[in-house]
Amino acid sequence: MRCTHCEHVVTAEKKLKRSPKGATNEHVYSRCSQYNAPDHSRIWITERTINDQFVQLFERLRVEDLEVREWLVAVIRARASAGRQQNAQHRAELERQKPRVEFKLQTLLNL
Ligand SMILES: [Zn+2]
Repeated sequence: MRCTHCEHVVTAEKKLKRSPKGATNEHVYSRCSQYNAPDHSRIWITERTINDQFVQLFERLRVEDLEVREWLVAVIRARASAGRQQNAQHRAELERQKPRVEFKLQTLLNL
């Protein structure tokens, strides 16, 4: 996704908010990577707003040919699956590195 103001990449961040009853809710907000640049809008967009924009976009994309439509669905599913596998591998690698980083941090704190 790209920013409509400057064309830079839009990034998402998870925020945890505690409700008055004590429950923790996770929210995802997106903003332009140039959010802090001078004269740039300081807008955060909710995940719901982005989802609604995608729904509006997909509603305009109508593929009449059944074969093309099925191919498109297969490609989207394959890419989503590959993305999930890549995320899982990245997470596993981070989890593998975590004890070593924590050990180094503890060592530095003990100096
Ligand atoms: Zn921007």
